[in-house]
Amino acid sequence: MESYLTANYHTHTTRCHHAVGEDRAYVEAAIEAGIRVLGFSDHIPMPEIDERLSGIRMSYAQVEDYLDSLHRLQQEYKQEITIYIGYEGEYFAPLFEEQIRRLRSFGYDYLILGQHFVITDGRGVYTGAPTDSVAILKMYVDWCIEGLSTGAYRYLCHPDLIYFTGDETVWRREMTRLCRYCKEHRIPMEYNLLGAMEGRQYPSERFLALAGEMENDIIIGIDAHDPGQIGNQSVYQMAQNAVRKYQLHVQTDLPGLR
Ligand SMILES: [Zn+2]
Ligand SMILES: [Zn+2]
Repeated sequence: MESYLTANYHTHTTRCHHAVGEDRAYVEAAIEAGIRVLGFSDHIPMPEIDERLSGIRMSYAQVEDYLDSLHRLQQEYKQEITIYIGYEGEYFAPLFEEQIRRLRSFGYDYLILGQHFVITDGRGVYTGAPTDSVAILKMYVDWCIEGLSTGAYRYLCHPDLIYFTGDETVWRREMTRLCRYCKEHRIPMEYNLLGAMEGRQYPSERFLALAGEMENDIIIGIDAHDPGQIGNQSVYQMAQNAVRKYQLHVQTDLPGLR
């Protein structure tokens, strides 16, 4: 049997309204699977901007409960596993500083970037929906790069969430721009196990081929929304096959995390 991840930094909780299972169940599933470092990264709270964008994340009112619960689990399971507390967030320039300032006052270990939306014509657009809009593709890449350039985020989650169905050369040009930025700034890009598990558009062969060519650093993330998604050997095997096929540079440590 192939071994499994020893570290995972992409874990959700029920506070985001679309995950299931107690916090403790995630920790126990991780220990059971042989994970030694578990990072929680639930969807970050955001100052209210749009009803549809706030329904998939915790509120600021839930932050204390999130921290209390995870601090207790850190103590309780410290002999078996190291737990870090973070958030997965989208970069949105007008709210970024306010958002981070409020979170810092509570304290956290790390942030990762998952650019689930862009905003065009005043409306949120889910970047995982199929689109042939070059403007949306470009905006996605621009916002990812701008977000990463703040230095606030340790890695880029599911970089190929953007579901561009238009011209392949345009896709390649834009995604090369994103890969190059990450390569030059040594920011890992994620192989997302949840996408593989659920047969989503990501991780895509075309992206993995590009990341292999560009020699990007890759971190494998579970993106667990259910404790049962932790420890899935067959999906981990798929990731290992991709690593071999595209000669991906996998790393297990999150840069800068103590
Ligand atoms: Zn989610
Ligand atoms: Zn996630």
